[in-house]
Amino acid sequence: MTNDERSLEAELLDPDRLGFDPAELRARYRTERDRRLRPDGASQYIAPTGDFGYYVTDPYAEAEPSREPLTDHVEVLIVGAGFGGLLAGARLRQAGFDSIRLLEKGGDVGGTWYWNRYPGVRCDIESYIYLPLLEELGYVPTEKYARGEEIRQHTVNIARKFDLYRDACFQTELTSATWDESLRRWNVTTDRGDEMTARYVIFSSGPFSRPKLPGIPGIDDFAGHTFHTSRWDYSYTGGDQTGGMHELADKRVAVIGTGATGIQCVPDLARDAGHLYVFQRTPSVVDERGNRPTDPEWAAELPEGWHDRRRDDFLAVLGGDRTAEDMVGDRWSDLAHHYNAVADETGKDELTAEEHELVREVADFHKMNQVRERVMSIVEDEETARALRPWYRYECKRPTFNDEYYPAFNRPNVTLVDTDGRGVERVTERGLVSQGVEYEVDCIVFATGFQVGGSHPAASGLALHGRDGVTLPQHFSEGMRTLHGFTSHGFPNLFCMGPSQNGVAPNFTHVLDDQSVHIAAMITESAKRGAAYVEPTETAEQEWVDEMGRKAGVDRALDECTPGYYNNEGHSSVVRSFYRPDELEFAETLRQWRENDRFTEVLVRTGENDADERN
Ligand code: NDP
Repeated sequence: MTNDERSLEAELLDPDRLGFDPAELRARYRTERDRRLRPDGASQYIAPTGDFGYYVTDPYAEAEPSREPLTDHVEVLIVGAGFGGLLAGARLRQAGFDSIRLLEKGGDVGGTWYWNRYPGVRCDIESYIYLPLLEELGYVPTEKYARGEEIRQHTVNIARKFDLYRDACFQTELTSATWDESLRRWNVTTDRGDEMTARYVIFSSGPFSRPKLPGIPGIDDFAGHTFHTSRWDYSYTGGDQTGGMHELADKRVAVIGTGATGIQCVPDLARDAGHLYVFQRTPSVVDERGNRPTDPEWAAELPEGWHDRRRDDFLAVLGGDRTAEDMVGDRWSDLAHHYNAVADETGKDELTAEEHELVREVADFHKMNQVRERVMSIVEDEETARALRPWYRYECKRPTFNDEYYPAFNRPNVTLVDTDGRGVERVTERGLVSQGVEYEVDCIVFATGFQVGGSHPAASGLALHGRDGVTLPQHFSEGMRTLHGFTSHGFPNLFCMGPSQNGVAPNFTHVLDDQSVHIAAMITESAKRGAAYVEPTETAEQEWVDEMGRKAGVDRALDECTPGYYNNEGHSSVVRSFYRPDELEFAETLRQWRENDRFTEVLVRTGENDADERN
């Protein structure tokens, strides 16, 4: 650190100037983090299979459809019919592709919005930018933060608009995909006996598709009712996503988990349950939501291109762009505003990397102090309010936005069971134990999240064999190797969507849309130019791996975070394989790649006389 940096640090961290002691906050963050670190890390969780299968059966699908196994061929097979798969399908339809099949384990399209129908479910990103293809569908959501059912209906409308139901296979899971070099296509099998072929395969199975349960001792001893939030059992609770769970009126209900999902379902449960126990291990950041109905006049006057502009503006604000308009104007942008304010205090036009980190940290202290003050001002019982305060940096966990969560704790029928960072100790036949006290309940709701990271085909255990029988885990044995995160050498015509070696943003549908545009462009050019397949050259792949080495890297702030899925439960230096600084720059990189006609890096024409010639 230079002398200049040292004196700036002393100035910015001066307790008298700040009105709080940053050293105390740092120490508190560390204590709270250490208290939560567990030797078993991510393996504390168990998959809800086998004996736990009943947690994850599909409550929304009709009985399994009986159909004959398919043995046909499609041009494009899309695995996963959430927003990613639907966007890929829509962009390919726009490009004129006729033969497209969605393959989906759920009973309908929607992905996370198909499965997550718990009460209170809404988007946590403004709906006018979260819902994709709004202009294409001529739709403006009814509220600033739309309900889950409206979002799910939008996925259905996308599928209808782009005729994606036509060849779709629901309640079907892919079991293997093998590249056939002689026929230049993928042989695909499913759990319904299908043996189909596809020229192109696109994976978009989503990061939140596999629920997980905490491996709490005694979890299978409980004699009452249980379910995971992503398989809400309305046959037990009564009501629907909007509430009215009258069957719970005489029930004692426990929720385990206070992440983004727990936060959303607690207010409805508090209203409808006889008594609600909220078991908390780590409090979430719960910021103001400020939901409101859509103003019809505003909606009617939206100019062409408004949706893209609004999405980009949101990311620009989050990235600290002072020229951005901040059309969304919600709490997501607070941290960036704090950053800009602290950066102004330095009086410098350019900050060194060290100074930037320091400004980030001070801005974070300001923001988190606000969050903690908010709890204290809403929750009446002081002990409860204090326990609900989060002690970590803002971006350690997904921040949440809710105006009904804290007031729920002012109800006489709601008890916060703060486990002091240790989690539920034991499940008994009658209920849950925390810090030696048994809480008898009739029902346990697991708001314990998802096996994040296991959905990429390289990590899913799927039998996926590229050229010469090589698997993706073999290809990635010394680290991930892709071009832009989507394609890999040795895996022709295979595309993976999702956040890996590419851009990421809190507005995940924006990321998926950028990805679908690019993947559709590669496939379109391949067809136009008569290429045999799309496959990156080894050189292009290596160049991108090198570029990621420069653009990604270890986020030290994340290392210091309280455990969670963002930092592998606090157990390793997480190499963030995300393109920095942000999705806007990544999307621009892709756009320039297309504009500069760099398709030769991926398009291969293989003929009798022109083996492996680049188009
Ligand atoms: P998370 O993984 O974020 O939360 C799981 C919760 O379970 C945490 O509070 C965790 O505590 C708690 N937990 C785990 N084990 C125990 C235990 N043994 N005892 C007590 N508590 C325990 O899952 P979510 O489903 O809440 O959210 C997952 C992601 O889904 C979010 O990060 C977000 O990206 C997305 N989401 C988006 C929404 C939207 O509006 N768009 C809404 C809901 C979710 P701890 O923190 O200590 O690990």
